[in-house]
Amino acid sequence: MTPRSDLDGRVALVTGAGSGIGAACAMALAEAGAKVHVLDRDRASAEAVADQVGGWAHPVDLVDLAESTVLDRLPAELDILVNNAGFQHVAALPEFEPERFTRMQQVMVTAPFLLIRRCLPYMYTRGWGRIVNVSSVHGLRASPFKAGYVAAKHALEGLSKVAALEGAEHGVTSNCVSPGYVRTPLVTGQVEAQALAHGLDAEQVLEQVLLARAAIKRLVEPEDVAALVRWLCGPRAGQLTGASLPVDGGWTAA
Ligand code: NAD
Repeated sequence: MTPRSDLDGRVALVTGAGSGIGAACAMALAEAGAKVHVLDRDRASAEAVADQVGGWAHPVDLVDLAESTVLDRLPAELDILVNNAGFQHVAALPEFEPERFTRMQQVMVTAPFLLIRRCLPYMYTRGWGRIVNVSSVHGLRASPFKAGYVAAKHALEGLSKVAALEGAEHGVTSNCVSPGYVRTPLVTGQVEAQALAHGLDAEQVLEQVLLARAAIKRLVEPEDVAALVRWLCGPRAGQLTGASLPVDGGWTAA
């Protein structure tokens, strides 16, 4: 069993920590003893989660990290970085707005790159660091109508591996966790939209549409993902790097 306080003295930053998987990660890391910086573009939820975990709120839109003044205000002295923020957009390629595609890359690729780049020098000085990138089964497989998301998550998987190779000699690991469908607002919105589109009820959408390819016909819970993230940040995970761990009920096995 992982001891409760195995992250005592560690400082973490979790992006998109105001909701869903990010909020669960912030709580799991805090429960393990870490002090957590909670970054989210939604100020109220960033502050609420920061209050809950006894951490610091950063109401920041990751798109704005391209401006160095915004990036410079974020902490660089981090032991743990969880690049989690992301969003979905569903459209066929001919209709996929280029601005939306660009924004997806900014949030899910450029922001993780800028944050990794910013926190590595401190991690290298300390000889220890953990980078966890919340990817997706769509970082490993494609689905139609998700060009922006699939492109971004595949890029994030590549970025994570480069960080693993460069960080190895400095005691820094970098991994992706790649969930299937998780019970968060990002998915419940899709269930409602698909139910309308297919004339099904929510349960039927889950079984026949979203979980059609998964062996386990149940949504993943945010806490399932957070428990793995916490373990990856712990003392026993030092040999696991450059990997992508699916938490997908067998979705990628099929
Ligand atoms: P969510 O919508 O519940 O939470 C995402 C959070 O990110 C929100 O609080 C939102 O405000 C924040 N965010 C979005 N864009 C931002 C930006 N530009 N700047 C700062 N904050 C921003 O979603 P979730 O399901 O918890 O998703 C978290 C991550 O997990 C995402 O990267 C998503 O792609 C990934 N993921 C989710 C699922 C799923 O089924 N829910 C599956 C695989 C991967």
